[in-house]
Amino acid sequence: NVPLKELLKEIMLNMWTKAEKKNIKLILESDENPIVFGDANRLKQVFLNLVDNAIKFSEEHSIIQIVLNCYPEQVEVEVQDVGLGISEEHLNRVRDRFFQVNPLNGGTGLGLAISQQLVEQHQGTMVIESELGKGTIVTVMLPLSNENDNIIYQSVL
Ligand code: ATP
Ligand code: MG
Repeated sequence: NVPLKELLKEIMLNMWTKAEKKNIKLILESDENPIVFGDANRLKQVFLNLVDNAIKFSEEHSIIQIVLNCYPEQVEVEVQDVGLGISEEHLNRVRDRFFQVNPLNGGTGLGLAISQQLVEQHQGTMVIESELGKGTIVTVMLPLSNENDNIIYQSVL
């Protein structure tokens, strides 16, 4: 079981240098620290991949926001960038193994395929919304652990 806000903070620290090289600002927005089911290292891999993409496909001086929202039975993490975006014709292929819009950008085209698989292994879903030239939002939904019961109870009181 994984405290998600702490995990996302770690992601921020891990990606800081990479973002700084492009003068990109990383912002984490979250009021709560929900606990989700699963394996911390695998979930870390998911969000490292998503933030890595956001940095890679954004211009210098850009902003990337990681937003954590809690719902009664699940949590939602959005990784938002205002970068290159993805065209409609490519959008449904970006999770295919080895697919890259432009292979000259480096990498192997496996990041999203792996993330998708890891999220599914956690009984979660991953939705990608994007507009060419405007940016991309990747939303990961994960089920809450029942360890949260006392936390929710406290907030009701
Ligand atoms: P790797 O992750 O293996 O280093 P990669 O980043 O190219 O390589 P994926 O993470 O699987 O591979 O992404 C596949 C493709 O989807 C990318 O090459 C890029 O064309 C597109 N893509 C992914 N995320 C974004 C994003 N945030 N903005 C714009 N395009 C994206
Ligand atoms: Mg990638």
